[in-house]
Amino acid sequence: ERVDIAGVFNIVVGLFRERAERKQIRLDMRIVPPSPQLQSDQRALEQILSNLVENAVKYCPAGSSVTLSAETKGDFVRLAVEDTGPGIDEKHLPRLFERFYRVDAGRSREVGGTGLGLSIVKHLSEALGGKVSVESRLGQGSTFIVVLRA
Ligand code: ATP
Ligand code: MG
Repeated sequence: ERVDIAGVFNIVVGLFRERAERKQIRLDMRIVPPSPQLQSDQRALEQILSNLVENAVKYCPAGSSVTLSAETKGDFVRLAVEDTGPGIDEKHLPRLFERFYRVDAGRSREVGGTGLGLSIVKHLSEALGGKVSVESRLGQGSTFIVVLRA
C-alpha cells in the first residue's frame, strides 16, 4: 500500500490536537518537501506515531512543544517525534522499549499507563522493516526516531 506521510501526520495530529490544547502543549509538524511516500502499512504507521505523540502529550508539562517531522534521506525516511518535556534519564534508555517498562519517576507514576506503548512501537517498526531509537536528555526533552526504507 502506498502511504503518504503528510496524510498520516494529519490523522495523528487530529487525534491529539484537543488533548494537547487542553494541556497548553504545542503540536506541530514539519515535513521536508516533497512529502515522503512509502510502500508501507498506513494503520501501522498511524499506531506508531499515535503511541509516540500520546506519550509526548502525556509526559510533557504545559508550555512544552511536540513536533512531528519527516524527511527522506536517500533510501530512507526518517520520522521523528520530538518534545521539549522532562526527558528520560540515560540509565533507563536501554530498557525503554521493553514490555511493561516504565520510568519510575513521580510524574509517570501519577499519570498511569501499562508500559506497553513503546514495545508496540518497536514491534511495529520492525514489522515494517524499520528501526526505532530514542535520544533524550533529562530536563531537555526526548526525540523518538523511526527510520524506514523509502
Ligand atoms: P502505555 O503506553 O501502555 O499507556 P506508558 O506510557 O507508561 O503506558 P510506554 O509508552 O511504553 O508506556 O512508555 C514507557 C515509559 O517511558 C513511560 O512510562 C514514561 O516513563 C517514559 N516515556 C515515554 N515517552 C516519554 C516522553 N516523551 N517523555 C518522557 N518520558 C517518556
Ligand atoms: Mg505510552
